[in-house]
Amino acid sequence: MPGRTVTLTGWGRISPSAAELAEPASAASAAELLSGGTAARGVIPRGLGRSYNNAAQCAGGVVISTARLNRILSLDASTGLATCEAGVSLEQLMVAGLPAGWFVPVSPGTRQVSVGGAIAADVHGKNHHVAGSFARHVRSFEIVLPGGEPRTVTPQSDPALFWATAGGMGLTGLIVRATVQLKRVATSRVRVDTVRTADIDETMATLAEHDRGYGYTVAWSDSLARGVGLGRSVITSGDFAEPADLPPDDREDPFAFRPGARLGVPPGFPPGLVNRYTVAVANEAWYRKAPRSRRGELQAIGTFFHPLDGIRNWNRVYGPGGFRQYQYVLPFGQDAAVLRSFELVSGARAPSFVTVLKRFGPGDDGLLSFPMAGWTLALDFPARTPGLAGLLGRLDRLVADAGGRVYLAKDSRVPPGVLAEMYPRLAEFAKLRAELDPAGILASDLSRRLGL
Ligand SMILES: Cc1cc2nc3c(=O)[nH]c(=O)nc-3n(C[C@H](O)[C@H](O)[C@H](O)COP(=O)(O)OP(=O)(O)OC[C@H]3O[C@@H](n4cnc5c(N)ncnc54)[C@H](O)[C@@H]3O)c2cc1C
Repeated sequence: MPGRTVTLTGWGRISPSAAELAEPASAASAAELLSGGTAARGVIPRGLGRSYNNAAQCAGGVVISTARLNRILSLDASTGLATCEAGVSLEQLMVAGLPAGWFVPVSPGTRQVSVGGAIAADVHGKNHHVAGSFARHVRSFEIVLPGGEPRTVTPQSDPALFWATAGGMGLTGLIVRATVQLKRVATSRVRVDTVRTADIDETMATLAEHDRGYGYTVAWSDSLARGVGLGRSVITSGDFAEPADLPPDDREDPFAFRPGARLGVPPGFPPGLVNRYTVAVANEAWYRKAPRSRRGELQAIGTFFHPLDGIRNWNRVYGPGGFRQYQYVLPFGQDAAVLRSFELVSGARAPSFVTVLKRFGPGDDGLLSFPMAGWTLALDFPARTPGLAGLLGRLDRLVADAGGRVYLAKDSRVPPGVLAEMYPRLAEFAKLRAELDPAGILASDLSRRLGL
């Protein structure tokens, strides 16, 4: 049944590979694809393709897209329990839930993520310190196992399969539907406080303080600042506003949410425009423009949570070579390693345009889930940045030696041995995979490279 052959990449537009793309419209036809006879080169699920590299690719095999599994099946306006097919996007859940006062429990930096992809990468957001990652809010999911057997899984009924699937990057089966507990909000606006910090010490101290006072917080850091300004940042923290916070005109429609038209990157946008000089200028302008301190600014959901969604094809500004994301988490107590990572990046003059520092709360039980209590830093670099491989290799070593890890949804190059140092439960995951999928039906370009 698989359809046409297509060439796919992740959001970073590196490592293209060709596969048969199947778009089943029901769990039953998805089960046929997983029954084993279809592809000698493996099968992997794909949601909206927002993971940065090749987790949702399978060279020479079959990629099962959930594009047609896109219906919200029920949403209880009194409890906020939503049951939907796995291809439903977080934006769809917002559009359906907000009029009744319900928002997604965890939102990554884009809302163009499917529910299946959010579980498979166990995504985190600006509220990880209070809410944990996405799977914590999943009450149950239905999965088609390799071989084609459907199974309903809750954290109570089958904790091993639940927590191998949460963060398991599609390697335990195809999630076809899920029930998610949404979060009660009083309006669709966020009351935001902004602080500009002078250096890494002030940035880390302010983030720690804001964790105690706000439900959402994050620092945008100037990755190229050096010397006394190393780690200078703009920290934005907030919580959903109460109706009384809104200007009188907006109180008529407290849950207004207009995902709206998005600007496109103009065709012919010159490749190579993101480089160490332009990023240094842009970072300086952004930092200077931010107020030293501002309180109580009302922001729309898109502005606060998903600023990059405002530009369609944002990923094209890096030019045809694409870009590499790198995200680590380092346990609390490893502040010196956080500082060292900033020194390594700014010392290499590697231009990361979107550099985000945040503190995670305690991690959940996902065998391969990324978050753990500690400091997380996300960086993105044009793939053609000179010396990038060496820099990222040095960061890997720093992270592994300090007991941290990198995020599989963004990874494009960590060596398998280093990954095993970072994820102590990898062997447990491999054992469960061997039992669940003895014929090795599920495979992705990522899993082949890392031996997952
Ligand atoms: C601008 C931007 C900002 C981001 N910010 C964040 C952030 O703040 N926090 C964060 O955690 N992540 C962030 N991400 C990463 C993104 O949230 C994850 O990669 C997410 O998994 C993407 O979901 P998707 O539907 O696009 O899945 P895809 O990229 O298509 O697939 C991702 C993985 O999920 C698996 N998968 C997809 N659907 C299913 C299914 N139905 N059943 C089983 N497995 C499935 C795939 O096999 C693959 O391994 C960001 C990405 C972008 C582009």
